[in-house]
Formats: sequence, C-alpha cells, structure tokens
Amino acid sequence: MHANSPPAAAPVVVDHVAALRAAVAQARAAGRKIGLVPTMGALHEGHLSLVDASRGQCGCTVVTIFVNPAQFGPQEDFSRYPRTIEADLQQLAQRGADLVFVPGESEVYPPGHCTYVEMQGPALPWEGVCRPGHFRGVATVVLKLFEMVQPDVAYFGRKDYQQCCVIEQLVRDFNLPIELRICPTVREADGLAMSSRNRYLSSDERRQALVLHRALQHASQQVAAGMRDAVGLREELATLIAAEPGVRLQYLAIADPRSLAELSTIDQPAVALVAAYVGSTRLIDNEPLLPPPLPNR
Ligand code: AMP
Repeated sequence: MHANSPPAAAPVVVDHVAALRAAVAQARAAGRKIGLVPTMGALHEGHLSLVDASRGQCGCTVVTIFVNPAQFGPQEDFSRYPRTIEADLQQLAQRGADLVFVPGESEVYPPGHCTYVEMQGPALPWEGVCRPGHFRGVATVVLKLFEMVQPDVAYFGRKDYQQCCVIEQLVRDFNLPIELRICPTVREADGLAMSSRNRYLSSDERRQALVLHRALQHASQQVAAGMRDAVGLREELATLIAAEPGVRLQYLAIADPRSLAELSTIDQPAVALVAAYVGSTRLIDNEPLLPPPLPNR
C-alpha cells in the first residue's frame, strides 16, 4: 500500500459458522461472487497474493484463519505454530479482504465430531509417508470450510504442490461445485519460498535453506537442457543438498505432475518436490520440470 493511499475498510471478522453464513448470504444476495482463501494465519505475501487473486475475480473475498489441529502429527509444531492474529487482520484490511472467519477449535470440531476424509491416490506418497494423517486433516478441514463458506472459487498456493493435488481430487471425488485456482509460489528476493515457518529459522539456517531452491533451479535447468535420467538427476540433487551443513533431506521426488508417481525418465512435463529439515524446521518446495520439445523426425 502507498503511504498516501486511503485506509481500506476493515474486513468483517466472525468466529461462528452462523455469522459467517449470514455474511456470505448477504454478499451473494447482492450478486457478488464468493472467493475463499483458506489459511492458518501468520500471513505473508504468499497468502496475500491469494487474497489479491480473489479480489481480482470475486466481489467478496473470504479469508479463513484456523490452525487446524487435525493436520499436525503428535510430534509436530501445532502448539508453537505462529499465531499473529492482530497483524494478520491489519494486512487483510490493507489488501481489502471482505470477511475473515477465525473460528475456535470447538467451532470446527465440536465435541462428538467423528467424520474424516480418508484419501488414497495423491495423498499417499511423499508428504503422505512423512506426515501420516496430515492429508486426512487437510482434506477434512478444507471440505468443512468449503461447506461452511460455499465459495464459487477457492484459491490455493502452488507452494504446497501435493496439497493442491489432494484438493483437486477432493473436489472431483465429492462433485463439489467449486472452481479451484492454483496461484504461483511467492518467494523472497533470494529465492526462498515464503512460509509461515521461515520465522523459526536462525540467520544461519535461513542462508542454508537456500540450497533447496538452488537444487530445484538446477533440476529445472538440467531438464530444460535435455537431461532425461531422473535417477541420475535425483542423485545429483541429493549430493548438492547433503553438502549444505544443517540441512537434512527428507525426500526429493521427480514425479508425474498429476499422479505424483516417481519417474525414472523425464520425457514429459514433471515436477520436482523436496522436503528437508533445516535445523529443526521442516520446509517444502517444488518446481516444474519441462523437458525440451522432441526434435522433428
Ligand atoms: P497455510 O497458511 O500454510 O496453510 O497456507 C495457506 C495457503 O497459502 C495455502 O494455499 C498455501 O499453499 C498458500 N501459500 C503458502 N505459502 C505460499 C507461498 N510462498 N506462495 C504462494 N502461496 C502460498
């Protein structure tokens, strides 16, 4: 926002489903298209780019802020996950969000809640292996938020590539009348993918974390230059990442961009997915891999 631009109207903030539904119904009755941006808060430019995208296409942008306990494993960072609600609301006011839903845990999971979404397919590999139960929690909360808001369009970041695949599958499998928009990953100037978890990093770790983007860029350049051997490329990238002290690779996948199945040859568009611990912080990133067109025969 420019220093001299007028202050934006603060969004309406609600914490109960009934109030949310009433506000959405009012916007819909006024003929406005409803855009949904689900988040866990601790907002940064990555989240705000989704708000901008929704504002560009929808007359009413609903942002949800909910740190979803169901998607965290018992050893994960649920209790220390950053919660910065005042700063979040300020940023959302500046970016012109219309409605913010900030439910308490018992509003989303009231006592007795016992229905969960168990997905196979794209939920199984990679994050599915490293974080058992994670996508069960994600798919469940996203389905619930979809039902609560009933948006026309929902916005997600490509930064969480496998999550996007899971949500696309959810929309297909449950015939949800919702259009999905997958928006590009927003990065810091030096290439680090923005993440709420970046604030856990010390300045040394922050520098070490850059190896992930470097490795992904190297992969994308190698494939663009004609490298087709996914096994060899994976080894090369793992060596590059292992050379960075403080970084412990969890997986590095070169996969089919839809099924997420691991590839041995890159003869079609693919995706490189990476997860690593930098110190005690777990980061993920990804990059499309586009092989050069085959020469005419
Ligand atoms: P989270 O709060 O981490 O659950 O993220 C909420 C939404 O913001 C998800 O759709 C994420 O994929 C998206 N998101 C997070 N980081 C970025 C980023 N760096 N660029 C674009 N989208 C992002």
